[in-house]
Amino acid sequence: MKIAILSRNPKLYSTKRLVEAAKERDHEVRVVDTLRTYMSIASHKPTIHYKGESLRGFNAVIPRIGSSITFYGTAVLRQFEMMGVYSLNESVAITRSRDKLRALQLLARKGIGLPVTGFAHSPDDIGDLIKMVNGAPLVIKLLEGTQGIGVVLAETEKAAESVIEAFMGLKANIMVQEYIKESAGADIRCLVVGDKVIAAMKRQAKPGEFRSNLHRGGSASVIKITPEERLTAVRAAKIMGLNVAGVDILRSNHGPVVMEVNSSPGLEGIENATGKDVAGLIIQFIEKNAKPHKTKTRGKG
Ligand code: ADP
Repeated sequence: MKIAILSRNPKLYSTKRLVEAAKERDHEVRVVDTLRTYMSIASHKPTIHYKGESLRGFNAVIPRIGSSITFYGTAVLRQFEMMGVYSLNESVAITRSRDKLRALQLLARKGIGLPVTGFAHSPDDIGDLIKMVNGAPLVIKLLEGTQGIGVVLAETEKAAESVIEAFMGLKANIMVQEYIKESAGADIRCLVVGDKVIAAMKRQAKPGEFRSNLHRGGSASVIKITPEERLTAVRAAKIMGLNVAGVDILRSNHGPVVMEVNSSPGLEGIENATGKDVAGLIIQFIEKNAKPHKTKTRGKG
């Protein structure tokens, strides 16, 4: 097969591993810098150009689109889809999961366990917003944040009010969330491929920190997840329409709750923690499923 990887940087661990895994299985693979492509969207013959050359003949594309370039990245991916190229994760599914509020609303609608979450643009009554999520302690999140930056634990209602006011003064979009204290600074990353969790790791925050992000000094270890957690992760990915997803779960008193469904999960942490060949399993999934003109969500923008 001829596979394109949409990635800004061929030196990133995940990109390198996917290239390696594809080559090991005798595929032709090419890393395409998403932001360097340009396109013609003529209806009879959509094309993608890259550094003066027309990209054609690909059987599959693996999108590794960072959150800062979602807008352009999903447009490039849509163009591949219009050309009939199979996409590992479809553009519509990526857009869906990148919008944190939309994603939580979709998950809630299908009965997936979630932390009680409130969101607001500019409420007159911040006190009532705080009450809605059962008061302090609570977590306040910037919608645009990643890697734990912009995630604040407010221990008291006074602190929560001040932080919410400050964020709103900056015109930031925020989410207010029940603090799952019993998770004790740990979360579980489930790597879903197709309808299976192929690897799972526990991330534990460093002492004195509640955010378990590896970028925030958290540490990763392999974990055995329960059948309920497994089912929750697979269902969450499916609701988003993602074939490959990193589903982040907290263990709460009322069962697993999903924090986020990530459409470009990093491979380094999970491969190192579990010893699994995640990249290889992703390529195998493509081998089984890549067929031309398979995009299910065509036309649904
Ligand atoms: P980001 O997308 O920036 O990583 P997250 O929403 O995943 O932000 O939050 C970062 C970390 O903070 C999580 O991995 C988790 O450890 C912790 N955390 C987030 N929300 C909650 C919550 N409601 N209760 C307890 N811990 C949380």
